[in-house]
Amino acid sequence: HHAKARHLGVVRYHPSQNHYDAASLSLISEFRRAVTDNQLVLHYQPKAKLSDGAVEAIEALVRWHHPARGLLYPDVFVPLVEQTDLIDDLTRWVLRHALEDLATIGDPHLAVAVNISARNLSRHTFAADVKAAVRRAGIEPHRLVLELTETALLFDPTRAHDVFTDLTSYGIRVSIDDFGRGQTSLGYLSALPLSEIKIDRTFVRDMVTNAAHAAIVRSVVELGHNLGLIVVAEGVETAEVGDELRECGCDVAQGYWFARPMPLVDLRRWLAGSDRGDFSLAQL
Ligand code: C2E
Ligand code: MG
Ligand code: MG
Ligand code: MG
Repeated sequence: HHAKARHLGVVRYHPSQNHYDAASLSLISEFRRAVTDNQLVLHYQPKAKLSDGAVEAIEALVRWHHPARGLLYPDVFVPLVEQTDLIDDLTRWVLRHALEDLATIGDPHLAVAVNISARNLSRHTFAADVKAAVRRAGIEPHRLVLELTETALLFDPTRAHDVFTDLTSYGIRVSIDDFGRGQTSLGYLSALPLSEIKIDRTFVRDMVTNAAHAAIVRSVVELGHNLGLIVVAEGVETAEVGDELRECGCDVAQGYWFARPMPLVDLRRWLAGSDRGDFSLAQL
């Protein structure tokens, strides 16, 4: 159903004509109701330490139960929503629900990661809004990780630096997502108050058979460690890749290998250990 949902949800933006086609426009207008009518839902995907399999965080990934089209994945609507101020409503909604869900899980060592968009950073109240959400949920600030993609980071590097400095001085952590897809200068990267980089799955998924990708992964792990950062690999689909990542010294893995994104009820069961399969057994 995943591929079908994506197919039905296809929308196009024509940069040359500077307008959206009809399908995109209607999806954007329908999105207003998605937020107010609770059509959005969060799935959670664990991030686990490669050394011992301990789950250190869960990432919130938004889905939209569209009344006519069924379950829509973020690739279909987030890039559109990001072109409008509705992205602020989306991020606020995700933050609130992710923090509330984390509070109900009751594991004080678990963090939640929320994806944010470049456009969120341009809102003057963004840092204050995030801090208020953390306060309201009664969550310690270090238990929130904000993920921004490397390409979004380059949209307004000065602004990103300022907002991150504000957020991290409060204790909130920041991660650079899909690392390796952009061209961040190393000087800029080292000046950012980051705690983590996530290596893009393009390099991770075939690192066992693709020597160039394996070399990139090793370099990013070394770079991250030299900058004092935690290095996460996304898109880890097999135990072979997991083993190779562990050999490289990569700290944390995320991927279908041990857990897909899942609704909160399933996550609870998974965290309780019943669905964890071979991962903890084989790796401990
Ligand atoms: P991302 O933050 O890089 O999230 C990783 C994506 O890869 C997720 O897709 C996840 O389901 C998928 N994935 C995880 N493990 C594997 C694996 O082993 N193999 C493969 N092939 N894929 C894997 P999803 O949930 O469709 O999200 C896509 C993107 O949409 C996210 O990429 C993120 O950039 C964006 N997104 C998701 N939720 C939000 C949100 O609440 N706000 C914003 N602004 N963006 C979001
Ligand atoms: Mg992410
Ligand atoms: Mg990513
Ligand atoms: Mg990615």
